[in-house]
Amino acid sequence: MATEYCDEKLKVIFLPFLSTSHIIPMVDIARLFAMHDVDVTIITTPAAAKLFQGSTNRDSSRGRSIRTHTVKFPASQVGLPDGVETFNVNTPLDMISKIGKGLSLLQGEFEQLFEDLKADCIVTDMFYPWTADAAAKLGIPRLMFLGGSYLAHSAQHSLKKYGPHKDMQSDTHKFAFPDLPHHLEMTRLQLPDWLREPNGYTYLMDMIRDSEKKSYCSLFDTFYDLEGTYQEHYKTATGTRTWSLGPVSLWVNQDASDKAARGHAKEEEEEEEGWLKWLNSKPEKSVLYVSFGSMSKFPSSQLVEIAQALEESSHDFMWVVKKRDDGDGFLEEFEKRVKASNKGYVIWGWAPQLLILENSAIGGLVTHCGWNTIMESVNAGLPMATWPLFAEQFFNEKLVVDVQKIGVAVGAKEWRPWNDFGKEVVKKEDIGKAIALLMSSGEESAEMRRRAVALGSAAKRAIQVGGSSHNNMLELVQELKSLRLERIHGN
Ligand code: UDP
Repeated sequence: MATEYCDEKLKVIFLPFLSTSHIIPMVDIARLFAMHDVDVTIITTPAAAKLFQGSTNRDSSRGRSIRTHTVKFPASQVGLPDGVETFNVNTPLDMISKIGKGLSLLQGEFEQLFEDLKADCIVTDMFYPWTADAAAKLGIPRLMFLGGSYLAHSAQHSLKKYGPHKDMQSDTHKFAFPDLPHHLEMTRLQLPDWLREPNGYTYLMDMIRDSEKKSYCSLFDTFYDLEGTYQEHYKTATGTRTWSLGPVSLWVNQDASDKAARGHAKEEEEEEEGWLKWLNSKPEKSVLYVSFGSMSKFPSSQLVEIAQALEESSHDFMWVVKKRDDGDGFLEEFEKRVKASNKGYVIWGWAPQLLILENSAIGGLVTHCGWNTIMESVNAGLPMATWPLFAEQFFNEKLVVDVQKIGVAVGAKEWRPWNDFGKEVVKKEDIGKAIALLMSSGEESAEMRRRAVALGSAAKRAIQVGGSSHNNMLELVQELKSLRLERIHGN
């Protein structure tokens, strides 16, 4: 019996959360497992599957054992129109809690699937803390995908344990994080609301931390040369096991077809060729890429400041703008002007970010410090102007600017929820200053760029044979196979 099971592939189920920027890295991790001869089933809903089905289909045609199992989202039961089942920039406020409710209604069905599909282990997003108990019931390991950097999770652990932010005179006074490997400072205003004052999300995060302790291990999309110090710190501080498998996007998306098809990619090729033609007409490292991820939008007052900063800067730019950002059409006028002067290119909606970042014309980017984008910029060896907005992005900024010194802070002062504009409007002068420093030919900027290029090379080494993430992946699969054998033998 043991020999029979030894020959069988390890069966792993993945359950990603229903938001674009959690689906993207978790599906990449699932594809990474399939690349390593693991039999992979991704459980999700039909609308979420559309975000990645092309990639997994291509993997199947490459002979990998990967499939999607879709579960109907109970839209009508929670009062949602058909097809509204993921969290993204366009999700109306009143629908957010309904999607959450729909997801919780699916819990029983997900649990049944874990059992029916006879998985050897489950890998689930952090936002499903209940899966720790579900896996325990089946006697199989649960691996938890923790989005974000080790630094961000270490900083949150420091806040929870020592509460340095609690005794500050005001929200704008700086405090330092006790017990972190570097001296890092922030203000209370830059902290997520749930860390300033307990709310429902604080309660959810506590459940996530509990489930982390009950899990076999956590998976991170990062790599040793980028975050080794914080990886060690996090493991010691929390007493949990973790594996760093990044950069996953670089690892599994090696063909242009994979890079082009990610997320909400457009069907029409002509538009894509437009941006590519434009970038290819520009000198090396001359263009600034400006994007704020999949979840954020700005009020018009902020868009005006960005537009003016870009138009007044002495650098060409490519700016990704969400269609719903603009209230009064001034962006269309702006686009006409910068097109006529050939200074800028506006991408409306969704950009093929992986392809853009690897284009040699790109010299740096303005980013909201979403972890996926930071990893993708690091892969591409690019320096960043950092403009954190929500989630754990203000912590990520510290890694880029203060620890790795591959970025310049725009100077954002206020954290806000992803679906809220907040009060702060960053002025064009501050945006302009950061862009100028980022793209400048001065020695300080050149040093920053050299560091970014060196980290890009380290990212590529991490996933090659003998590299840190490559070794981790082989060890992890081996460990999971041994666990399966122990389970079968009843040890
Ligand atoms: N992304 C993209 N095109 C876009 C916007 C986003 O390809 O126009 C991808 C980006 O490459 C990254 C993810 O979506 O993989 C965004 O994740 P991130 O963590 O950077 O930010 P979030 O969306 O969570 O704010």
